[in-house]
Amino acid sequence: MIYDIHVHTLPERPLDAASSIAPLARQGRVLRALLRTADRRLGGGSAAAWVAEQVAASRVDRAVVLAIDSFCGADGVADRERTLLHVPNDEVAALCRRHPRLLFGASVHPYRPDALTELDRVAALGACLVKWIPSAQNIAPDDERCLPFYERLVALGLPLLSHTGIEHTLSVLSNDLNHPRRLRLALERGVTVIAAHCGTRLFLYERSQFSAWQRLALEHERCYGDLGAFGLPLHGGPLRTILADRDLCAKAVYGSDFPALVLPTWYAPAIGWQRARLLSAIANPLDRACALMQDLGVPAAVFARAGGLLRLPGRLAAREPGATPC
Ligand SMILES: [Zn+2]
Repeated sequence: MIYDIHVHTLPERPLDAASSIAPLARQGRVLRALLRTADRRLGGGSAAAWVAEQVAASRVDRAVVLAIDSFCGADGVADRERTLLHVPNDEVAALCRRHPRLLFGASVHPYRPDALTELDRVAALGACLVKWIPSAQNIAPDDERCLPFYERLVALGLPLLSHTGIEHTLSVLSNDLNHPRRLRLALERGVTVIAAHCGTRLFLYERSQFSAWQRLALEHERCYGDLGAFGLPLHGGPLRTILADRDLCAKAVYGSDFPALVLPTWYAPAIGWQRARLLSAIANPLDRACALMQDLGVPAAVFARAGGLLRLPGRLAAREPGATPC
């Protein structure tokens, strides 16, 4: 069974009051490039429909499609001026109802006055996890204001998928908000936490948070990390470290971070040039990402692990961690 727990989409257009993409002037370079590519590929069509098509044509059995809640001020009120991308829960929930291989990844800002009600609501709509990007949404995961939110996550059996490391597409505030050490509070309160990207970095000049994630994952039974965007440069070292350590590998969960680029040729020294060319020719981006990780030695248990972590029908009340040996 292959679960991809980290798949992005865009809000439906025309944008209404509930969904938004920041105007061009506020978009950073990476977001602008991603949106340009999406416009070219979609030709005015729906991003969500395209994501569903790609999953249907891939060998990924279940893909978690992620909503993104707004940037909220300290008072918990959505701040449209500082929100770069808002993908509403209702749009993603509706998409996942239409496509049984898609799973609803909700996003709820913990400072919202109605955060707990919204958590209950998205759970009733079938949410299998909650996603945060702290530096994009203005969330300090170690702020005690999050405590009632954590209690409700535990009660609902919802894991938290929280971005760690440098955020290149949607960051508004300091990337320190994404530091894995800030997730300790949630772990101590019993939340199952999946640190997206395992705190890795993309460029040499950036400070990696990978070793902080390693410590956290080894210390806390319920701390995991996803392999989102591991097809990009500078992820080979962290991946080798994870695969070489049985205990760390038991904490890895597969996710592609679609539509993040996948660059098999970067990994040609490890998998051979011929194989790298073959992988680069795979048209389906989800299959390309998956095949590269398999070639690099990611075991089947990592692809299947989410089945034991997500809030899925049939195991809604389950509390047992999904750590199976690699
Ligand atoms: Zn992502």
